[in-house]
Amino acid sequence: MKLLKHSILVLLLLLPAVAHAELYIVATLPALGQIAAAVAGEDGEVRVLARVGQDPHFVPPKPTLARHLADADLLVTAGLALEGGWLPPLIELSRNSRIREGQPGYFAGSDAVEILGIMKKVDRSMGDVHPEGNPHWWIDPLRVAVAASALAERLAELDPAHALAYRQRAEAFGKRLQLLVTNWQPKLKGLLPVVSYHDSYRYFSERFGVPVAGFIEPKPGVEPSTRHLDELVALIGTRKVSQLWVEPYHLGRIVKRVATLSGATPVSMPDAVEGEGAEGYLAMVELLLKSAAGRQ
Ligand SMILES: [Zn+2]
Repeated sequence: MKLLKHSILVLLLLLPAVAHAELYIVATLPALGQIAAAVAGEDGEVRVLARVGQDPHFVPPKPTLARHLADADLLVTAGLALEGGWLPPLIELSRNSRIREGQPGYFAGSDAVEILGIMKKVDRSMGDVHPEGNPHWWIDPLRVAVAASALAERLAELDPAHALAYRQRAEAFGKRLQLLVTNWQPKLKGLLPVVSYHDSYRYFSERFGVPVAGFIEPKPGVEPSTRHLDELVALIGTRKVSQLWVEPYHLGRIVKRVATLSGATPVSMPDAVEGEGAEGYLAMVELLLKSAAGRQ
């Protein structure tokens, strides 16, 4: 028996090391990790910092997350200060100079897509967590197609040997996203307006033509006052709002109160779901679309 164990050990030592993917990519958010995996395929290994169900603005910056960043070749972020409250200290702690902002190893999807909600005056002092424009672009499949294509170019720059494969995967993913939008756009036309908790769905509602009448938060990241909620309940009545779109991490007593007073139905609209690569991302968008259409 002892000899057998010894033989197995020798055998394991003699086996060639497991082939490592060419690039080690870290994404801040689960949906961004799925997008990165869709483009990187077998040529990249993707790790994600935030968990499904966490508020992307407020991820606890644990030192273990910095360790994940230490060897990263590429960091994929949403950008526009979305991760501004927690990512910079992690990059600092990781001591990985390749993934600092401005380096080829730092990729912000917001740099690649058209941004909505850019304010003339920076307003972070007032508590607004969207001081540079709305950072929730990854909820729109067509912006994701554009970002995936830009990401393929960045991967090609970092790993020229697989440039063609990155570009082909981004193109194939983009086609699936375009098809999804083409199929669903007519189904969501003419729906009653919604009210959302945080300003998370701006890109999605614009893409699919669902009007957003108002927000439970008076400003992104700011808790509502009783007066704001009373005004919102009145608005829900006059605008015939049918659904309250709520990020899973905002479901709670405030939503319950608005739903009870107004009669609108709270609908959980996640900005990430579990799942691998393209399939995971598409599953999230389909869930949002089915929920919005009231078909779930
Ligand atoms: Zn936000």
